[in-house]
Amino acid sequence: MEQHITIDGVIVPFKPGETIMQAASAANIYIPHLCHHPEFKPHGSCKLCTVNVNGRNCSACTFPAEFGQQVLNQTDELNKLRLRIIQMLFVEGNHLCPACEKSGNCKLQATAYQLGMLDSHFPHFYKAHEVDSSHPDLMLDRNRCIFCTLCVRASRDVDGKEIFEISGRGINKHLVVNSPSGKLHDSGMEMDDRAADICPTGALLVKRQGFSVPIGKRTFDNHEISEDLDEQ
Ligand code: SF4
Repeated sequence: MEQHITIDGVIVPFKPGETIMQAASAANIYIPHLCHHPEFKPHGSCKLCTVNVNGRNCSACTFPAEFGQQVLNQTDELNKLRLRIIQMLFVEGNHLCPACEKSGNCKLQATAYQLGMLDSHFPHFYKAHEVDSSHPDLMLDRNRCIFCTLCVRASRDVDGKEIFEISGRGINKHLVVNSPSGKLHDSGMEMDDRAADICPTGALLVKRQGFSVPIGKRTFDNHEISEDLDEQ
């Protein structure tokens, strides 16, 4: 018998070993997420993919699909929870969308739009983190980092370089660069590394490409992030 779960009442097949997120993506069902990426092992840190499974909340990106699960995804309660998480991410960093090179291509911004975010709700309380523009081709603005660890995983698991790590806790949490100077220029990072274009926000950017795509033609100008399942 085919293995399946239901998501918001829709029957969704899955293969043994798949997570709820993998089953949902294969069925073209969008579950909001930022730290999840299909190429990498799940991290389960952003909590945007929180769904309700048989009455209990859990992260869809790490929770295994099991026959008969009743999963709730698009409910007012869960989307309110996700909205508060996105609002917390915005106040914990310096996310000035209109001035950011990533605007229109940013998954944080697109997810905020998708969840209907109209204000930040919480007071801003981030501290200023170092901007690293030492690399000839890349720039790192830690103030836009949401600690998704995608660059950490991409550098370690695909590039085999282990250039990034998250350090510190609370307001002191920040992205560190593994190099003699602690900066990107002597880290061994290259422009065509997988880690160089994996960042969902404008924290890690390839230089001289900002604003090259005009408004109206950027990734999320003409469709919502919920319609962009192929890349997620
Ligand atoms: Fe994620 Fe970007 Fe921060 Fe790396 S720099 S942890 S990819 S937000």
